[in-house]
Amino acid sequence: MNERLEKIPREREESLCPCKSRLSYADCCLPFHQGKAKPETAEQLMRSRYSAYFFRLTDYLVETTHPETREPDLKAELEREIFRINWHFLTILGTSKGGPGDKTGKVEFEAEYFYGDEPRKLHERSRFKRHKGAWKYLDARG
Ligand SMILES: [Zn+2]
Repeated sequence: MNERLEKIPREREESLCPCKSRLSYADCCLPFHQGKAKPETAEQLMRSRYSAYFFRLTDYLVETTHPETREPDLKAELEREIFRINWHFLTILGTSKGGPGDKTGKVEFEAEYFYGDEPRKLHERSRFKRHKGAWKYLDARG
């Protein structure tokens, strides 16, 4: 993962983060992707995972999936699908818990993407749970 990140052009760091936070990528999800910082809230982790899907950072997606629900072939599965999907919009609809003092949290969101040429929408309620202090993605309900 780091190998690919080192090649990130400056323009990408300065451009707006794909998670639609209106911050630059460098001030938003990049430090999480580089392992220089850890998300403090479940929403930050959720956003950084969306951006990781956007930039196709499969290692980050595997690493931020909770060991309880992480399938052994997750990386292979991601690599099979991730290049067919082009993400283009994220809207956070609501959150519950998931704060700096919480152990679990939920984030409801809507994400728009193209699967091949076909526009699709994903509406999900994701559950997050800490593992060794760090937020991890647990599972989802549609
Ligand atoms: Zn971001």
